[in-house]
Amino acid sequence: MVYDCGSKTKDINLNQIIDSVFQHDDEINLLFVSHFHEDHINGIEYLANKHIIKKLVIPSLSTIGANLILVDYLYNLHSTSNINNYANRFIASCYNEEMPFDQSNGVEIIQIDDKVPQIPVHDVWEYHPSCAATGYQDFISTLIEAVGLQDCYDLFNGRNFAVIRDYFEKDVNIDKLHNFYKSYFEEKHKDDNFYSMTVLSKAVNDDIKEPSCLYTGDFPSRYSHCRKKLISDYKQYWDDINTIQSPHHGSGRDNHVEIHNVKNRNCVISYGKNNQYRHPHQKALINMINSEAIIHLVDEDQSSKYQTVFEF
Ligand SMILES: [Zn+2]
Ligand SMILES: [Zn+2]
Repeated sequence: MVYDCGSKTKDINLNQIIDSVFQHDDEINLLFVSHFHEDHINGIEYLANKHIIKKLVIPSLSTIGANLILVDYLYNLHSTSNINNYANRFIASCYNEEMPFDQSNGVEIIQIDDKVPQIPVHDVWEYHPSCAATGYQDFISTLIEAVGLQDCYDLFNGRNFAVIRDYFEKDVNIDKLHNFYKSYFEEKHKDDNFYSMTVLSKAVNDDIKEPSCLYTGDFPSRYSHCRKKLISDYKQYWDDINTIQSPHHGSGRDNHVEIHNVKNRNCVISYGKNNQYRHPHQKALINMINSEAIIHLVDEDQSSKYQTVFEF
C-alpha cells in the first residue's frame, strides 16, 4: 500500500528514494492519494511506470471541484500549485475519464465521499479512508460569484477539460482569478487542503492495536468542523491508534490539541529540511509534547525513515 508519493524538496532524487523502498517486481495493492498537491503526487508517474497499481483511492470531488483543481494548476493560481503535465493528465483521468492515465489498464479507481468504507487487503489487514475535510463547495461558490463565472457553471459540470481550458483561454480574465486566489488564500489565511483524505490502517483483528496508523496527509485540522468529523469517523479506534502522521508536515495550525489528545502515541512528522513554511512548527511540537507523544522526525535524509515491524 502507498499513501501519497512526492516531494517538493529540490536536489533530491525522488526516483532513487522510491527504488529504495520497493523491490523490483512489487505490486501495489492500493495507492491512496490524499489530495493533489505537488508534494503528494509528483512521484506517482515514476511509481506507476515501475509497479502495477491495482486500486487507486482518491477523495470524491464534484466534477466542478476536479476541474477547478486543473484550472488552478494550469494557471499557477495558488502559490503551492506548480505541477507537471503528467500530474495534470493524472488528475483529469481520475475524475474526467477523458485523458489516458497510462497505467489505467485494469486499475480500479475508488472515490471516497463522506462515508467511511472498509477496504480489506487480505484477512489480516484493512484500511479505512475518510473524507472528513470539507470546504471545497464553499470555495467553489465563492469563486464563481467573485469572478463572475456563473455562466460557466454548467461548463464546469461537464466532463471535458479541454473545453474548459479553451473557455478560460478565451473568455476569463486570468488577472481577476489570480486576485481572487490571493485574497481567498493569502489574506484570509486559508489553505487549499480542504479535501485532504485520511486513512486508518489497522489489523482486521481489533485486539491487535500496535500496528494501527492514521495517515492524515495535509488534513486541515485547524477547522473545528473537520477535526470533529475526523475524530467521530474514527471514534471506535481513536484512543488505540498507535501511530499518527502529523497533519500537514507539522504545521502549527493543523496540529491542534484535539488531534494530539492521546498519551504516548507515536507521532511522525514528515517535512523538507529547509522548507519555506518552517515546518514542523513549535506549536505543533508543544501540543505533541504535552500529550507525551513519541515524536519521530522524518526528512529527506533516508536514515530518518520511520519503520515498524510486526509479526502475526
Ligand atoms: Zn497540500
Ligand atoms: Zn503537503
